[in-house]
Amino acid sequence: MSSQTKPQILLRREEITSAVKRLAAEIERDYQNRYPLLIGILKGSFIFMADLVRQLDFPLEVEFIRVSSYGRGRESSGAIKIVRGLTSVVKGRDVLLIEDIVDTGLTAGFVLDYLAKKKPTSLKLCTLTDKPSRRQRSVQIGYLGFTVPNKFLVGYGLDWDEKFRNLPDICFLENED
Ligand code: 5GP
Ligand code: MG
Repeated sequence: MSSQTKPQILLRREEITSAVKRLAAEIERDYQNRYPLLIGILKGSFIFMADLVRQLDFPLEVEFIRVSSYGRGRESSGAIKIVRGLTSVVKGRDVLLIEDIVDTGLTAGFVLDYLAKKKPTSLKLCTLTDKPSRRQRSVQIGYLGFTVPNKFLVGYGLDWDEKFRNLPDICFLENED
């Protein structure tokens, strides 16, 4: 596939905005007096995180973690390692992990295991999108934006070979089944 492939819109920016508001209302209800630590998985979650936290009108902290999956393009090799760790203390905190997409479940599962070992008071996952058709490992999703079909998505933080993260809508690339 060439990088000239024209992205087709799957989720428009307005739909994303209302999903983010709905998720924020759910999170606010559950966390507003708990000073939660929101941990985004880089790079894909950066736009979702930025929009989500601006809808949360209570004290919280933001952190990021970066993992690599030793894979380029669309396929993850399944071997995951942390390439940028945390600077905040997780022990005793209410931790909410923020992900752009859960696909095989290997990345979120790995990071949840990693964080659980640090003994947070609570640990949940919030993902903007869920692609359940390719799941290899089950992960519990506490807050979900959209269930999406088995297409390769780009935009709103999601990339193809580092491109398209800046698209305001979530799109899929043509030629994908
Ligand atoms: P998993 O480990 O669940 O297979 O995938 C998690 C990571 O793979 C996501 O954080 C994302 O970086 C990448 N990924 C999975 N599906 C897609 C997709 O449709 N589009 C893009 N751009 N990345 C994806
Ligand atoms: Mg990602």
